[in-house]
Order: sequence, then C-alpha cells, then structure tokens
Amino acid sequence: MEEENEESSMQFHEMELDDRILKAIAKLGWQSPTLIQEKAIPLLLEGKDVLVRARTGSGKTAAFSIPVIQKIIQVKQTAKHQEVKALLLAPSKELCQQITSVIKDLTANCSRDVKCIDIAPNVDLKTQKPLLVEKPDIVVSTPARALLHLKAGNLNLKESLDLMVIDEADLIFSFGYEKEIKEIMDFLPKIYQAILASATLSPDVKSLKSLVLNNPVILKLEEPDLAPSSQLSHYLLMAEELDKATIIYSLLKLHLIRGKTIIFVNTVDKCYKLKLYLEQFGIRTCVLNSELPATIRCHSVHQFNQGVYDIIVASDEKSLEQPGLPVTKRKLSKTKRRKDKESGVSRGIDFQCVSNVINFDFPLDVDSYVHRAGRTARGKNQGSVLSFVNLLEKEYLDKVDEHLQKIHSESSVFKTYQFKLDEVEAFKYRAQDAWKAVTRIAVREARLKEIKTEIFNCSKLKTYFNDNPNDLTVLRHDKALHTVRLQQHLTDVPEYIIPPTLKNLAGITTRKNKRTYPVKGDLSSAKHQMKKSNPLLSMQFDGIKKKKK
Ligand code: AMP
Repeated sequence: MEEENEESSMQFHEMELDDRILKAIAKLGWQSPTLIQEKAIPLLLEGKDVLVRARTGSGKTAAFSIPVIQKIIQVKQTAKHQEVKALLLAPSKELCQQITSVIKDLTANCSRDVKCIDIAPNVDLKTQKPLLVEKPDIVVSTPARALLHLKAGNLNLKESLDLMVIDEADLIFSFGYEKEIKEIMDFLPKIYQAILASATLSPDVKSLKSLVLNNPVILKLEEPDLAPSSQLSHYLLMAEELDKATIIYSLLKLHLIRGKTIIFVNTVDKCYKLKLYLEQFGIRTCVLNSELPATIRCHSVHQFNQGVYDIIVASDEKSLEQPGLPVTKRKLSKTKRRKDKESGVSRGIDFQCVSNVINFDFPLDVDSYVHRAGRTARGKNQGSVLSFVNLLEKEYLDKVDEHLQKIHSESSVFKTYQFKLDEVEAFKYRAQDAWKAVTRIAVREARLKEIKTEIFNCSKLKTYFNDNPNDLTVLRHDKALHTVRLQQHLTDVPEYIIPPTLKNLAGITTRKNKRTYPVKGDLSSAKHQMKKSNPLLSMQFDGIKKKKK
C-alpha cells in the first residue's frame, strides 16, 4: 500500500485534461487546483484506487468528478455502445444533488458526450426507469436508491462499470447503508476503479476500504481545519449588544458588507430577533435553525447558493448539521437519522461563494468558531470572518485566538475592524428603537409563524412540488414575518445620516432629487462589484478613518 503526502504544484492545464473540461473549469473561475485536486486527479487518471481524507470545502467533489469525466470522454472515443460507466454514491439526496450540479458545470461544454443523472430523488422507480434506459454515462445516487434500481433490473452495471465513487464514506456507515453497499457489490463487475472520499478515517471507513478498494493509495492530506489567513481574514470588533445591533444595521444598509453573508447567533430566538430587527429596515434575511425541517433548510441553502438571497441568519452551526440532538449524542444516535436517512444531513452541503461570516454572537467554543468560519473561503475563494465580541464573550475569543495561533503558527490572526461608532450616531437612535421593538412576544410569534409556514410549505405542498419542481423556485424563505409593527421611514436611509466620507462609496452616491437610498437596486450593484472586488476589503470601514476635515 502506498502513502502519498508530498508537495507538488501541478496546474489544471498540466493534467492532460480535455479542453472542454479546462474551459468549464475556467468558466467556474477556478484558477488553480486545490491541494486535494492536485494530488488526487493525476492518481485517479492513472487508474489507481484512492482513499481520500479531506475536509468539506477542500474541493473534493471536483477532485473525483474531473477524472471521472475525463475517463469517460476518453473511453467514448472508441466505445461502440452507450453504457453506464460510473456510479457515484453519497449518503443524502442533497449531497447527490450537489455532486450532480458540480458534474453538470464541469460537463457544460461536453454535455452531449457525458450524460449524468441523479436518481436519488424519492420518485416512483417507474418514473426514473426511462432515464436509466438511456444509459447515462454517470449515475449519482444514494446507496438505497441505486440498490432498488439494480434489483429492479433498471440499472445494469456488471458488464459496463469502470468507476465507482463513494463520497462522505464515513457517513455511509453511520446512516446504516452498510448492508446496501454490500448488496450493491454483488451487482458490480469484478474489476473497476474505486474511490472513497471521507472527512474522517474512522474504523467504519477502514472496513469500507477493504470491501471496495483494491491496493489503494491513501491521501491523508494534513490540511489545517481552516484556510490560511492569507485566504481567510479574521476581524474583531468589541461591542455590547445594542452597539452590535447598530453596527450590523449600518454595515448592511451602507453596503459595507458585500457578497453573500451568513450571520451567526447563538440561539433560535436570537435568529428571529435579528431577522425581525433587520426586517424593520427593509433588510431581508433568511433564517436557518435546527427547528426548521431538514428539507426546508436544504432548499434555503440551495436558493442562497443560487443567489435568490444574500443574507442568512443562522443559529449555532452544530445544531444545523444534525438537528434536534444534544451535541454529545449527535455522533452516537443513529435512530433519529434512520427516520429519513436520506435527507437529514447537512455535512458536506456547500454554502457556495460565501464572502463573509459574521459572528453577531461569538461562538461558545473553538469548534463552533472553526465550523462557522469554514463556511467561507472554500475551495480557493477568499473570505472574511467578522466577530462582534462583548465583554462576557472575551474569554471565548481568547480561546479561539490561542487555537488559531497554534494552527497558523503566527501571532494573533485577529485584526481589529475599524468602525467608529460615533460617526453613525443617527443610525444608533434608529437601531435602539428597532431593537427594543422586537419584544419576546414578537419573537415567539415569529417563530411560530415561520415554523407553521415552512411546515405547510414542506408537507402540504410536497406532492405539488414533486409534480411541478420548477415552482419551487418561487418559494422564498426570506419573506418578512411582520410580527413587529413596520415603520416605513426606517427602510430608507436619509442622506443626512450617512457619514460624509461614505457618500462617495459604491452604492451610496448622492442622487439629485432623491434624498433617500432604497436598498434593492443598490444591493445588486454591490453584488456586481463584489465579483470584481476582494471580500477581504469589502468589510473595511476605511472611509471614516480617512475622513478629511
Ligand atoms: P467541496 O469540498 O467539493 O464541497 O467544494 C467546496 C467549494 O470549493 C465548492 O463551492 C467549489 O465550487 C469550490 N472549488 C472547488 N474546487 C475549486 C478550485 N480549484 N478553485 C476554487 N474553488 C473551488
């Protein structure tokens, strides 16, 4: 068995990939391979079985998808028949959907030659059968769905399969798919190339390894659990609760934060408090917390990724991953997951192109900070974390700081975010009123209202959306909840309250005949600019520092 751990710096164009794949990669804006891609792609192209351990966000989906596509393109140059060449298994429907979407992006220029279908959705087998009759080159599925089709004779791999990938392999076992995987093996040919990707190398993964891999190369990439500080900036702002409220309102309303943003708080109540607070200023947000059904959460993330909305307010990251379980039991309990084992997971679910993570509440432990921060700066993208810290939270900050110093081997990575509160005095008055207006009763009502609406969306309309999937796009999760009285004047930003130095910044230009600054148009222009600008700079409130007298 080989172990591979050496450094190299191969670029995509040096990997002998088909031009159409290279063009698709360029279109995705990926300038160079991530570490895992650099290591895994050449090995997989050589035909080796590989076990990859890599953290979520490391680019592992493309690390196995690119060689799968390349191999199919090559084989098809001489193939006489259309056949299913690759089977990609993942533990949840959402992950299958995500993998399929990466493959669709990568095959955008060769979609006639490389066809991929996702059979994970829970529709009638008969409905999916015609798709399989066409023998797509790549089939993506959960183990259970693949097995059903194999048993029904809709999918025949014995003579045709060249490649099998199992993604999030550690979850395959914890979701109780062991039996299915073993049964699937009986339907596979004797020889095929296999790839296992996993965030951990647990004993379960090791047993899966001996079941499906043959003399594999093991890629144990010693990646730090967070991107380096050159890619991921950590900002810090000392502020008490009401000041936090003023700052977030000013930052969002003045477009000092650009790009997609996740704001984290520590409780579900706070999620709604912040949503209702921002709602008063006409700032729409989508709430994500462990109370909402998993399918709704995944749909919200999907829409966020598609750019339907830019701001998510989320309660603690861990409770989002495995809802409803106390932290200590999350890893152990399998019964809860079995209820709907194909949709209860959000590990590996990718919040795409998140530029900023804001800790409105500072996380209560180092792990949570790492989880939250890991939602940005994924792949090779830049990202920023801005943490608001009050006096009580300082002790948690110190622990995180200590941890980051250790993993980055440098002195504190936290930079102070420049924000002069006295420059936004007028914002402060509005903020105080709006913050106080969100009473406990309003929060409770909002929670109930949201959960009722979402459960209605989820169950009553399920059949409808199954039949009319396109209509799902109009189902929004960032609607105003209106449990706080709306004061129209708060949604505008009158010119006189904008700090003078900021008036010249993008999106806040002075307009003749207009004294207020509606958000909608400006947000999109900010978003447009974001594509060009570096999110690292987008959070800096330098304008005020450079104020001329
Ligand atoms: P994954 O670990 O596969 O979930 O990928 C995490 C994120 O990284 C996804 O949003 C990808 O679009 C992005 N990504 C993957 N490869 C690259 C790359 N070479 N350069 C930049 N971003 C990438």
